Amino acid sequence: MERENSFANTGMSAEQQELLRYLLEEEGIEAPRTQTILPRPDQSNAPLSFSQQRLWFLHQLDPRSACYNEPTSVQVTGRLDVGLLERCVNEIVRRHESLRTVFRAVDGRPTQKIRESLTIEIPITDLSAVPEPDRSAKVRHCALETFQRPFDLAEGPLVRFRLLRAGEQEHVLLIAAHHIISDGWSTGVLFQELAALYDAYSDGGEPRLPDLPIQYADFAHWQNQSLSNELLESHLAYWKEKLRGPLPSLDLPQDRPRPPVQSYRGARHYFCLPQSLSEDVKTLSQREGVTVFMTLLAAFQALLHRYSGQDDIIVGSPVAGRNWPEVEGLIGCFLNTIVLRTDFSGRPNFRELLARVRRVAAEAYAHQELPFERLVEELQPKRDTSRNPIFQVMFVLQNPVKPKLPGLSLQPLNLDRGATPFDLILSMEDNGERLGGWFEYNTDLFDPETIARAVAHFERLLAGAILNPEKEVSRLSLLTDPERRQLSSWNSTQADYPSERCLHEWFEAQVERSPNAIAVIFENGRLTFRELNRRANRLGRKLKKMGVGPETLVAICMERSIEMVVALLGVLKAGAAYVPLDPEYPRERLAFMLQDCGAPVLLTQPELLGALPEHSARLVVLDRAQTALAGESDENLAGTTRAENVAYVIYTSGSTGQPKGVMITHGAICNHMAWMLERFPLSSSDRVVQKTPFSFDASVWEFYAPLLSGVPLVVARPGGHRDAAYLIDLIARQRITVIQLVPSLLEMLLEENRLEQCRSLRRVFCGGESLSVELQQRLLACLDVELHNLYGPTEASIDASYWTCRRETVGTHVPIGRPISNTEIYILDRELNPVPIGVRGEIFLAGKGLARGYLRRPSLTAEKFVPNPFSSEGSRLYRTGDLARYRSDGAVEFLGRGDDQVKLRGFRI
Ligand code: AMP
Ligand code: MG
Repeated sequence: MERENSFANTGMSAEQQELLRYLLEEEGIEAPRTQTILPRPDQSNAPLSFSQQRLWFLHQLDPRSACYNEPTSVQVTGRLDVGLLERCVNEIVRRHESLRTVFRAVDGRPTQKIRESLTIEIPITDLSAVPEPDRSAKVRHCALETFQRPFDLAEGPLVRFRLLRAGEQEHVLLIAAHHIISDGWSTGVLFQELAALYDAYSDGGEPRLPDLPIQYADFAHWQNQSLSNELLESHLAYWKEKLRGPLPSLDLPQDRPRPPVQSYRGARHYFCLPQSLSEDVKTLSQREGVTVFMTLLAAFQALLHRYSGQDDIIVGSPVAGRNWPEVEGLIGCFLNTIVLRTDFSGRPNFRELLARVRRVAAEAYAHQELPFERLVEELQPKRDTSRNPIFQVMFVLQNPVKPKLPGLSLQPLNLDRGATPFDLILSMEDNGERLGGWFEYNTDLFDPETIARAVAHFERLLAGAILNPEKEVSRLSLLTDPERRQLSSWNSTQADYPSERCLHEWFEAQVERSPNAIAVIFENGRLTFRELNRRANRLGRKLKKMGVGPETLVAICMERSIEMVVALLGVLKAGAAYVPLDPEYPRERLAFMLQDCGAPVLLTQPELLGALPEHSARLVVLDRAQTALAGESDENLAGTTRAENVAYVIYTSGSTGQPKGVMITHGAICNHMAWMLERFPLSSSDRVVQKTPFSFDASVWEFYAPLLSGVPLVVARPGGHRDAAYLIDLIARQRITVIQLVPSLLEMLLEENRLEQCRSLRRVFCGGESLSVELQQRLLACLDVELHNLYGPTEASIDASYWTCRRETVGTHVPIGRPISNTEIYILDRELNPVPIGVRGEIFLAGKGLARGYLRRPSLTAEKFVPNPFSSEGSRLYRTGDLARYRSDGAVEFLGRGDDQVKLRGFRI
């Protein structure tokens, strides 16, 4: 027998049902017809319904899990007759077979076995002697204990009641029922019957509850029979089409890595939307012709879209599954799950999104009768023990159960069950005045603070969408005002620095302070500050005579040596900027860089003349005897350079394309050096090794930190930066105290197994690559040193942020920390919105350290250095292409390069 589909029992209010019917019509969606359910012919054992089969199966996998224990807690105020309550409960147990059912395997197949009779007792725990606030804690504890205790599906009973007595007139009623015999709707039925029975019995009368037309097992039998009918086939066809293709797994920002096996440990965060916002949601829904469910779902999916950066957002949602009047009054597991898949591509505004969600939801409702378990069976998603198949997040809007008992006042309580079947569930209800509910979350993945923030973001996004439905969803703000203030406080890094100074002038001031101190050590040679300064002056003068001055580029192709240090300083003293060319580079690359930078002068060494490519620059060959500088005065030159002039141009290759020259001004590099020397001062006992190839900007501080501090600079021999054994010997022999190591080099040094010999080291800087927790721990276990993780691109003058490593690590990453002085870090999404704490975004940098741009690449410069929308002073933002997120303490975690979209979306911690 067939009849019109009815939405009377989807758990929606009458208005909402009416609206849905209208929507289906308007969207031209035909809801297949449903059938009538009759009692099963054989009244003995029955098969399991589909959802029961799945729950039974999950229970076999993990019999101790509590995530399918349905919790109910109600505060009961007034004179409760406990004996009467127990009598009512037992009458309900008599009426409903489901409450007397247990599940046993017969010939390997699970079967429902209905007990003839079952008596339920309601144990009482007296807490009346416990004073507050201990009592509330005790109540929570008892609730958790009641809800978490596993059920024995084979023995039953599968429902348990418990009363906590807080006083003569104050009780808390706890009910836990296994989902296999119950659902949210059933709780409503239970309370309705309780009220009717309690009322009748307390008057001494007999209750007049209508007989139940069928029992749950009849439904299960019917469902199994109708498995192959056409109706299901048409539903199935719809869903298979809807959920085609590899389904994305939702990649939410987690606090911890996902365990290989889902544990179902969970907690709840209860919240309530403000009344005005609740009203606005209803008004907007009415105006836009959608249900409240759809509006809330749209906002929730929008939040997930913004958190994950994914466009294909799938959530599950329960439907009451009571589309037949015969089952309306039954207690049992009818709940079914529909899948709501919304496409966020094309930057929809909220109004457009609502239209999409409306169609998605209306269609899903029209096809809600296909048991979700059948769908899973059909789709055969790849088995993954770490996450749920098809969807990982659920959205629920339910009608609140309003429990009543005559003569008593009943108030539902928000008590946790300590478990959750999914990664995240947003469950909401409308209590008439306000919309509220809870986020239930997997506690392996998320911290309570993270979920508290998510609630605030949800609220903020919803409010913004309602205020401005024309605004693109990708541009709606998530951040609350306190969060904005917090993010900006992490960027308040203003500090004084010698903003008018040039690097070589700073060096000259140091020469004045300790002219006779050792400045450079290289193999067997050494120079004092005075000697080094004099040589550099002579080179500077020579260059000046050749027409070199501010904004001239002078290429330097030299090996590590004292002459290299002289060359760097000499070029700066001439007022020019140096372009380091590593003689180890392939000839074509050298040729490209020489050609690209157009340097009119090239400094080199006699040994390298043969290796140079063809070029049009004038050569200055620096030999040890300084033959080329004969006759030049060694006095300091009069300063002609200003802080805004370029000091060096370093070529970076980037991940793709041509190498490009990054122009760093004196002002930018002096800001870095000022920060570095202030934060990490060097003392007279320090010695710094220079071993980074000078074509990398990390070399810049290796040269200048000691040279500006009056401390010896120990230059490693050419090729020494690749030779771990040599480096260890050098550190030990020269009593090096401060060194910079890219993590891969640090690893090489550790592999030598004698890093303990480098006891002179007191400070190690890492940078240039991700530093793993493991490597950090290995170093700290081996040497008693400070370890700092430095992060920054060449375009921001070496370092933009720093982090001092600690032995006790939190989380899975060594952070890159906080911005250095006069530097701001912004972590932004694709639309350049600041992302909240914990959410992945791209690092943008601003501040004094930013490069002027790329040499002779105005369009690339314009693409990478964009106007800074967060500052009024016309400052710029540099787009790094690096992915990162904030920890809640403001430390930034580096999450990899975001060069391609795949990585940007697919990244998982
Ligand atoms: P470069 O411009 O050659 O200095 O390269 C800069 C890039 O190296 C950055 O954009 C990051 O991708 C990477 N990088 C630098 N420092 C770190 C660090 N401490 N941790 C992870 N990656 C880093
Ligand atoms: Mg770097």
